[in-house]
This record gives sequence, structure tokens and C-alpha cells, in this order.
Amino acid sequence: MQRRDLLAHLGRSAATLALGTLFTPGAGRSGERVERLPGGDDPFTLGVASGMPAPDGVVLWTRLAPRPREPLGGLPDAAIAVRWELAEDERFSIGRHTGVAWARPEHAHSVHVDVDGLPSDRRYFYRFHAGEATSPVGRTRTAPAPDAVVNRLRIALASCQHYEQGEFTLHREIASRDLDFVLFVGDYVYESSNARLRVRPHEALQPTTLEGFRQRHVTYKLDAALRAAHAAHPWVLTWDDHEVENDYAGAASRDPSRTAADFLQLRAAAYKAYFEHMPVSPRSAPVGADMRIHEHYPWGRLADLWTLDNRQYRSLQPCNPEGIAGGRLLTQCATLEDDAATVFGAVQERWIGEQLAASQRGWRLLAQGTQIAPGGIDTPLGRSIFSDGWDGYPKARARLLRAIAEQPQGNVVCLGGDVHRHVVARLRADPSDPRSAVVASEFATSSLTSRGLSDTATALMRSSNPDLLHARSDERGYVLLDLTPQRLRAELRATAFPVAADAQVHTQARFVVEQGHPAPQSDA
Ligand code: FE
Ligand code: CA
Repeated sequence: MQRRDLLAHLGRSAATLALGTLFTPGAGRSGERVERLPGGDDPFTLGVASGMPAPDGVVLWTRLAPRPREPLGGLPDAAIAVRWELAEDERFSIGRHTGVAWARPEHAHSVHVDVDGLPSDRRYFYRFHAGEATSPVGRTRTAPAPDAVVNRLRIALASCQHYEQGEFTLHREIASRDLDFVLFVGDYVYESSNARLRVRPHEALQPTTLEGFRQRHVTYKLDAALRAAHAAHPWVLTWDDHEVENDYAGAASRDPSRTAADFLQLRAAAYKAYFEHMPVSPRSAPVGADMRIHEHYPWGRLADLWTLDNRQYRSLQPCNPEGIAGGRLLTQCATLEDDAATVFGAVQERWIGEQLAASQRGWRLLAQGTQIAPGGIDTPLGRSIFSDGWDGYPKARARLLRAIAEQPQGNVVCLGGDVHRHVVARLRADPSDPRSAVVASEFATSSLTSRGLSDTATALMRSSNPDLLHARSDERGYVLLDLTPQRLRAELRATAFPVAADAQVHTQARFVVEQGHPAPQSDA
């Protein structure tokens, strides 16, 4: 696999050199200015993180920012050497790997180390050193070898952490759990604000520039509970809309005054700041307004997981004015039947189709931003749907469900978020036909903090959609998934809205999916 990273290689050879020479001011490899980290303030205010666990490696992340609310975190416009260490024990003596990476000002002094050549299925501790300072210690792991027999996989499925709408208390619990990884499916930061729901303020106005999006990520990363969840586990990530702008679709903004060119500039700034603050591979670094987030994660012979991107390549929501994005409630709309409408875009759709068809592992987990199961409400005027979800793209959904139905091994489970409610659903080959076969299970997690729909609307949604076995918008939460070759167990963790710092967390419901039986069953 293409996990080769220049910095890691530089790191490995540099580790044998006297490190002192790398920390002295002078010319860097490409001739840029290199500086010693100014002493004094702790440069690791934004914590450490790891992600994208692979059978032979994992990505380590940090960003140097001694004064994180200042431009460039209070650092000079120069590259700074950061030494990383990874080992099997907390004293960094067993199976130790180390290297040097450059924190470069053009990436806000973030560091993304794609460590490769590691043994599979191994747990690790890691940390960084810059100047005199040492970072907090993080914990991570590599994935099992692709052909290894694996008996268990534990995931926390989470999404939607509006900073203003609640404390990140659920991250404390996630940090304390014994997990293989956190699967975060979008709305990591929110660009927008709602004064009526504010329990703590975003520290700046809605971002539109690179500096603005960096500041937004800083506000989130300064939350200690979020840093703890990153330090405790590797994260596997995809995004939804709020990392850029609510309800955007491809190159279309919901702001009619923004042309596609303007919006792509904003999207480029948002993706760049996202990259700079996330434990994703340096290979994922955006090029202009494009950044690949969809990936395949094999987990021994137990599971294939795919992260999917439902924003960057999607076509405009149906029945919208030309070129203007945004979700709406629709009852009548001819373009709903448009075959060309797409959620994943042609290239990603072909990719996931081929991946699904070829997959031989025990379980197939499709992780994407939102709810696939229909959620429209039957009204006297007809069915009312929200056009930003999969309900707005029924032809694209039909194609995805056909690819799932044709998967020879079955055992497909769809994982999503975005809807701010815990949802457990049966997915049918043809969702409009109640006699059509159930082909997969779906779990959409509630939000970590963001407010959900009213109970009245949620009750109408349940009664209009018998395949929604569970749907509750009143509580915030996340989903613990525990997979074995025989079954997948899902525990829906929950707490009241708005989430308080000392919130009590309880189990709202338990479901199980048995191997060979696509429908979820209550496991109360
Ligand atoms: Fe959300
Ligand atoms: Ca969303």
C-alpha cells in the first residue's frame, strides 16, 4: 500500500543522526528557514491524535501552537523539527520507533506522520518532542493483518459535536472505553451558530477564510474531553456538511450571493484547516478545493469498513433553484426521479460498488454521513421528505441498495450520523415496497451535542416508516459497536439535552445483528 511518507523516511534516517543538529536554526532540507522552538509556552495545547489504522502502520498527529488563538499559534513563519516516538510500553523502551517530522508554517505547524513498517494488530503509545517540550502520551494501534483470524472489533460511532450546544462529556466516556477505534462520521466542527441553543460560545464569527477555519478547529481542540478521546484511541473519519457550510452540495453553496468559484475557495480553506487538525495521512492533504476522505479499512478476516464522502461529489438537492444548495421539506418534486442525481459522485459510486462486490470478509460496514433509511412523513398532501438526506436522492439510494443486495456474502451494516437521533433500521432492496427483501441493517448515531428534532416530528417519522425500528431525537449520544464473527451488538448510549459537564450516561437501547440475518433485532 502507498503508506510511504517522505517525512517518516526522513525521520527514520535522521533518528540515527545527532538530533541536536536538527534542532538548530539554519537551512531546512529544501532551504526554508528552520527555527528552534521558542522556549516557555507549551506548544502541545491542541493535544495529540492518531488515525487511519492500517495493518502495517498508523498516522500520528499534532500541531504546535503555544498561543493557539494567535495566527500560526504564536510561532514564527518557519519550519520546526518535531521528534516523534512510538513504542509498545508507556516508558517507550519496547519495540520503539522514532523519527523527525517538520512542522511547517504552510500547514499551521501541524505534523502528520504516516508511520509504516509496523507489526500488525499491536497496541502502541506515542508522543512528540519539540524544543524542550514533550507532548501528552497518546495510545493507538495497528489493524490486524488482512488475512488474520480476528474475534472481536469494538468501535465508538459518533457524530455532530456542535460546541455551542453542549459539553463534550460523552467524549470522556468514549476515552475511557476499551475500543479499537472511534468512527466519526461528520459535523466535527460547526461553522454556524444558533443563539437560542448556546451553552458556551464559539470564540469567533462564522469562518469564511483559512484563518477563520483554523480558529474554529482551535476552539474545538482546546476542549480537554475531545483531546482525551483523540489521545485514547485512533480515529477513522469522514465528514458531512458543517465542516464547511450547512447543506452544501459539491461546488454549490446555500448562499445565493456565492458563486461556485467563491464557494470552492471557501471549501478549499475549510478542507485545508480540517486536514491541518485531523489525524489523516499526509497523502490526504487537499489539493485546492479537493480532498479525498473516502477509504477502505480491512480488519483481519472479520470486517471490511469503508468511509464514504457524501458531500464533495454530490449533485444539487432536487427542486432547488439552479446552482443553489440547501435542504428543504418537499412534497411534490419531479426531479426527485432524476437518474443523474448522485450522493457519492460517479467515481466513488463505482469504487464502492466494486469494493462491495469483491469483499470476502465476515462483515461489510459502510460508514457515511447520514441516514439511508427513508424518513419521510406521510401527510394529507402526500409524503413530505427532507431533500438534503438520502430521501432527496432516491435513484442514487436505489443504486446503492442494489449493490448491497447483490453482495454475495451479505452481512452489510450501514453506519451514519447527521440526523441527531439514534436510529436503528431495516434497509430493503426497494425501500418503497414493504414486501421487498431486507438486505442490510442500519445504525445512525445521535449527536454528541447538537439538538435533535421535536418528539412530535420523530413520532410521525416512526409511524410513517415501519422499517425504523428505533428513532429517538430527545437524547444526545453515541453508539458502541461490538463485532464478533457471529454477531454485531450495538449499544445506544445516551444522555439528556443539553449535555452538561456532569451528565449521566445510560443505555437507551440494545440491538443485535446475527451473522446471515440482515435485520437488526432488539436485544433489550
Ligand atoms: Fe449535525
Ligand atoms: Ca450534517
